[in-house]
Formats: sequence, structure tokens, C-alpha cells
Amino acid sequence: MSIHGQTKLKRHQRIYVNRGMNLGAVKAIGFDMDHTLAAYDRAAFEDLAFRETLKKFVAAGYPEELLELKFDPTVLIRGLLVDMERGNILKVDGHKYVKIAFHGRKRLTKDLRHKLYNAESYKAAELLSVDTFFALSEVQLYTELVDYMNRNPDRIQRTFREVYADLRRFIDLSHADGSIKQEVLANPAKYIRKDKYLAPMLAGLAESGKNLFLLTNSGWEYTNAVMSYLLDEPHGDFAHWRDYFEHVIVGAGKPSFFRGSQPFYEVMTDSGLLKLHSGPLLPGHVYHGGNAILYQRLAGCSGDQILFVGDHIYADIVRSKDTVNWRTLLIVEELAQELPKLEELKDKLDAVKTKLAERELLDEELNHVASRISLNTKQAEKAIKRDPKKAHYLQKETQKLTAKQASLAQELDALDKTIRAMMEEREAAVHPVWGELMKVGLEKSRFAEQVTAYACLYTASVTNMRFYSPFKRFTAAHDTLPHELS
Ligand SMILES: [Mg+2]
Repeated sequence: MSIHGQTKLKRHQRIYVNRGMNLGAVKAIGFDMDHTLAAYDRAAFEDLAFRETLKKFVAAGYPEELLELKFDPTVLIRGLLVDMERGNILKVDGHKYVKIAFHGRKRLTKDLRHKLYNAESYKAAELLSVDTFFALSEVQLYTELVDYMNRNPDRIQRTFREVYADLRRFIDLSHADGSIKQEVLANPAKYIRKDKYLAPMLAGLAESGKNLFLLTNSGWEYTNAVMSYLLDEPHGDFAHWRDYFEHVIVGAGKPSFFRGSQPFYEVMTDSGLLKLHSGPLLPGHVYHGGNAILYQRLAGCSGDQILFVGDHIYADIVRSKDTVNWRTLLIVEELAQELPKLEELKDKLDAVKTKLAERELLDEELNHVASRISLNTKQAEKAIKRDPKKAHYLQKETQKLTAKQASLAQELDALDKTIRAMMEEREAAVHPVWGELMKVGLEKSRFAEQVTAYACLYTASVTNMRFYSPFKRFTAAHDTLPHELS
């Protein structure tokens, strides 16, 4: 598609470039499955995880009334941090500065937030990062439990951290005992969103000569069921979902897939049994486990000849780029909703920017008045003996300037309030509490900082790849440093 054509794409259809990439030089494209090829109906899916986990809490002796807690997909966003010790949820900017903090459902005051997190550097490593959609229901459940514990101080005799440890255990159990997967597979239409562009997009890439592979942490049975549901209709030469992929790797164990030394096992697709594999990976076969170094050797391509497409910033993107230098495309599903909203709010952002420019001028004037007051005061002190008339004149001047200073300061204060209100209103239009995924106020969020550092490309949906030629040369907007801005 021509450059001209691309600019016609809507914002949520575009692929954004942090680091230039020539797709023509890419030989193999790997895809993650969950939340990458398979988009879930988040409200239904996370509600399921939420409820299954709650049942396990009650079974373990927690109060039965916890079953009344409700999942709400709009409460949290990804990229937040969880302070498991204190029961707090934080939104931080790219410099680790905590901008918004909640304890349960209660917002922390600015003073408390500052005292706990910003007065001295906190240890980010002790906080848990909400990177995946799976984690959203988990962390909302945690905030509900914290809230419940605050309202009913004696009902749960455990610390916030112990409750989190239980939560992790019960969620793992819900996944491991199949309570979540069985329900999804029994009603795929309820939980998985079909995308009619998936088949043509994959076919287009395969037909252009790219080797496609599937690399998922899900097990064979679940992968086969989900992929069969997604690609159940034949498309040209592709009769079956496996026809699109040169290799299928399940149970990959990302992120350790990228630096570990686990061998590949072949999956006996009819029985699900595993057999230790040696020799080259055979096209059309299904493998379990393995590792990236071995994959590169057996598949005959490596490093930047491989593009990996995934939704997990850490397991899919940070690790694959850091350890084997694969090129990366991150799926940021939220952009599908946020970008059209931000487009509508563009005038509001422009209005904020105009006010900020006004503020800068006002601030400069205030500084100018302040330095004149200080200069006048010094000169008046000096002049008081040898030229009292001049000293008197200077004092009068200072009085006038001081009055002006006060009125300018008042004006600045009012302007600050206006700007804050305008920004809050704009952010609340994206999300009532947390604002934009990629921004905190006008700064990059920590999530955005990771996206820019690790994802070569990012986009709202995997099928946006259909808008671009398999030989497309993606070029980054040149990096601009503060001193280069006009
Ligand atoms: Mg995934």
C-alpha cells in the first residue's frame, strides 16, 4: 500500500513504529495465541476467572459473602503496579514517579502518596506489574479483598501480602484444574471474538513466502480447540488452521523459552502424548516446550530475520528482543478504544497546550517581577544613607511590584487550577480514574516507556497487518530530544 494510502488508515488501524524495520528482510513470523491471534471477550472471560477464583477462596475458609463481589472490566487498566504489602494500586510515569494511588477503592491523598512512594525511591522490584489481561481480574479481585478487609477488619485474619499469595495460588489452581478452560471450550462463542480478517491476513503473509509459526504457552488441547474455532473455515489452499503454520509450538513456557535450554518434544496430536524430539523440526508437526536458540538452529533463521508478534510486554517482547534479538510487534488491544476517543479529544489537548503556553509567559513575567523586587530591595538598602530620596522612590516601586507579584501569583494559581481541571476532564473521558494507558498527564506512562524501549512496532490488533505489504519498510519517526524541539 502506498504511503498515501496508509495515511488514510484510521488511527486504530495503523501500525506504529518505534524502531525501523524492513518486513521484506524478515523470513519468519511467529505469533503468540492468547490475546494476539485469539482476541477474548474480556468482560466475559475475566469475569469467569474472577468467579472461579472466588469459589476457591470460599472453599479454603474465607467468608462466604465474598461470593457477592462483582467483577467490573472497567475498574483497572494495564500497566499499573501493585504494592502487595500495603494493598495499594499505583499508576506511575516513566521516571517511576507515582501519580495516582488507591488503597482498595479509596484514593490516597497527595501527601500520603508522596510520603509512601515519592519522598524516596521505592523498590519497583517489590511491586507487581499488571502486564496482562489475565492479571486485570486478578488485581481487581485483590483490590476488592483489600476493600472488604478495611470494611470488615476482623473477618480475614491475614495480611494483605498473605491474601495476595492465596490469590495467586487459587488463580493458578483455576487454570490448572481446567475450571476456566473447560468453560471456554464449552462455549467458545461467548468468550472468543472471531475476526474475519485473520485467515486472509495469515494467508497473505504465508503466500508471500514468510514462514509462519505459532508459539504459545497454552497446551495442545486448548490451542487446538481455540485455533480450530478461530480458523474453522477453509480459505483458499488453507483447509485447516495448521496449514498456515510451518511449525506449531505449544507449552512454550515463555519467557524462559527465550533463554532456557529445554528440549523440544513432539506432540502426538491424536493422543496428546509427548515424545522427546531430536533432529530438525518438521513442517506441519506440533512441538511442546523447546527454546529459542534451538528453534533458530532447527528452523534455519535467527535474530532479526524473525519477527515475533505478541501481547505480553515482558514474556513476548522484552525477553525475545533482549536475549535472541528478534524483531517485535506488540499488540496493544486497548488502543482500539482509546485512539478514536483521543482523536475526539484532540481539541481539548490543543486547548491544554494553549493554556500551558500562557502559563509559561505568566511564569516568566512573575520571575521577572521577583528579580526586580530583589534588586530594588538591595539598591534601596545601599541608597538609604547617601541618597534617601532614591531609596524612598525604590521602596515605593517595590511596593507596587509586590502588589503586582501577588496578583500575578494569584493569576498563575487560577491558571494552574484551570489547566489541572482541563487535563482531568480530558483524562476522565478516556478512563474515569486512570486516564490513558500510555500517558500520565502529559508524560509517558511506565507502560509506554516499556513499549517504546522494547517493541519495534505496536498496533491495536494483529489483523491490522493486512493493511501493509509483506515487504513494507517501516520507518520510525526520527527520535527528537528536548534540545531539538523548536
Ligand atoms: Mg498472549
